[in-house]
Amino acid sequence: MSNTTNRIVVVGASLAGARAVHSVRAAGHDGPLTLIGAEPHLPYDRPPLSKEFLTGDQEPGSLALDPDGAYHDLDVEVMLSTHAVGLDVAARTVAVAPAAGGSAETVPFDGLVIATGAAARSLPGTEGIRGVHTLRTVDDAQAIREGLDAGARVAVVGGGFIGSEVAASAKARGCEVTVIEAAPAPLMRGLGAEMGTQVGALHGQNGVELRLGVGVDGVLGADRVEAVAMADGSRVEADVVVVGIGVVPNTAWLEGSGLQIDNGVVCDEMLCCGPPGVYAVGDVARAPNGWLGPLRGSEPVRVEHWTAAVEHGMAVGRNLVAPGEAQPYNSVPFVWSDQYDARIQIAGHPDADDEVDVLVGSGRSFLAGYRRNGRLSAVMALDAIRPFVRFRRLLASHPSWDDALELAATLG
Ligand SMILES: Cc1cc2nc3c(=O)[nH]c(=O)nc-3n(C[C@H](O)[C@H](O)[C@H](O)COP(=O)(O)OP(=O)(O)OC[C@H]3O[C@@H](n4cnc5c(N)ncnc54)[C@H](O)[C@@H]3O)c2cc1C
Repeated sequence: MSNTTNRIVVVGASLAGARAVHSVRAAGHDGPLTLIGAEPHLPYDRPPLSKEFLTGDQEPGSLALDPDGAYHDLDVEVMLSTHAVGLDVAARTVAVAPAAGGSAETVPFDGLVIATGAAARSLPGTEGIRGVHTLRTVDDAQAIREGLDAGARVAVVGGGFIGSEVAASAKARGCEVTVIEAAPAPLMRGLGAEMGTQVGALHGQNGVELRLGVGVDGVLGADRVEAVAMADGSRVEADVVVVGIGVVPNTAWLEGSGLQIDNGVVCDEMLCCGPPGVYAVGDVARAPNGWLGPLRGSEPVRVEHWTAAVEHGMAVGRNLVAPGEAQPYNSVPFVWSDQYDARIQIAGHPDADDEVDVLVGSGRSFLAGYRRNGRLSAVMALDAIRPFVRFRRLLASHPSWDDALELAATLG
C-alpha cells in the first residue's frame, strides 16, 4: 500500500480503534486516516466504569485514552456520533449514518480496521423500566452512579466480573446489595467452580448478599423498578437493578458483507478477515492466538480483555501497512478485576474442566494454578501480585506442571 494516497478507515472509536490509529501512523502510513465512532465521546477507558467511576473516585474527564489534541496531532479525521451501517467489500466502502438519524453516506477505504467491540446483553422485557441498567458506556455508568444513594437497594443480575465489580462499588457507596447468579458460583465462566467459589466469598465477607443457583424471571415495576422476580417465586426488592449477563459482539452492521461472522468477526492469526486490507481487532475479533496452540489448537477465540484490545490495535498498523512484516498474534492472555479491596489477576486460559491447585499462599492472598494435560494452562492470583508477575512470565514458555511447582517452591 502506498503511504501517501490510500485511505485507512478505523470503525469503532474506543480502546482497540484508538490503539489502531496510533499504530497505523507508527507503521508509516501518512495518507488519510479516519476514525469513526458511534458514541459522542472521544475514546475513553472502560475498566474504571465499574470501579473508581461508580464509587465517585474518578470523574469523566480523567477517562480519556489520549491527551487533548492527540488525534489532531496524528492528523486523524474523527467522525463521532456516527454509526457504520454497512460494509461493501467489493466497492471498498463503509456506509455511515448519523447516530441521531438521517441519511447514510459512504466512506471509501483502501484499508479497514473493524474495532466495533461489544454491547451489553440486556434482560428481555426490561426496556423502558426506569432504574434497570446495563453497563458498557460512560453514559450507562453515569446513570447507574446517580442511583447509588446510600441506603438504596441494588440488585446485580449476573455474578461475572462486571457484576461483581458493580456490587463492590455499590457497597462502597453505602447501598444494600444483592448479587443474583444462576450458576452455583460467581465468576464460574472466568475461573471455574472452585476458584469462583473462593473469590465469590468476597461478597459475603463484605456484607453483600449472594443468591446463587436461581434464575431471574423478570423485573417487576410498571414505570420504575420495584423488585427482581426470581424463578423460585421469591422477589429481591430493588431501587436499582444492574444487569451484567455478558456481551454480544457488535457485528450487525457487517451482515451481508460476506465476512465470516460467528461470535465475532472471524480472522486469521494476522487479524485479517479474508479480503486483503480488512482487519478486525479487540472484543469484536475472533482470532487465533498462537500461545493457545499447544493447549487448544488453532481455533480462533474471542476475548473481552483490555490487554488483548491494546495488543491487537498495536499490531494491526504493521500488519496493514507492511503486510510483509506481519507477525501472527501470540500472547499470554491477561485480565484483571478489582473487587472490594482485592485485586484478582488471571493469566493464560483457565478452563472449567482444568484441575486447580493453590501453588502459593493461602486464605486471602494466594495464587492458584490450572493444570491441563500435564501443563500449566493458567494462573489466578487473589492479592498475590508479586508471585503473579513471576508466573505470568513463566507461562510465556508453555511450562509443564512440574515447572510450575518448581517456581512455586522458590516463592515459598
Ligand atoms: C465496565 C467495564 C469494566 C471492564 N473492566 C475490565 C477490567 O478490569 N479488565 C479487563 O481486562 N477488561 C475490562 N473490561 C473490558 C475492556 O474494557 C474491553 O475489553 C475493551 O473496552 C475492548 O475494547 P474495544 O475497543 O475492542 O471495544 P469497545 O470498548 O466495546 O469499543 C467499541 C466501540 O465501537 C463503537 N461501535 C460499535 N458499533 C459501531 C458502529 N456500527 N459504528 C461505529 N462505532 C461503533 C462502540 O460505540 C464503542 O465505542 C471492562 C469493560 C467494561 C464495559
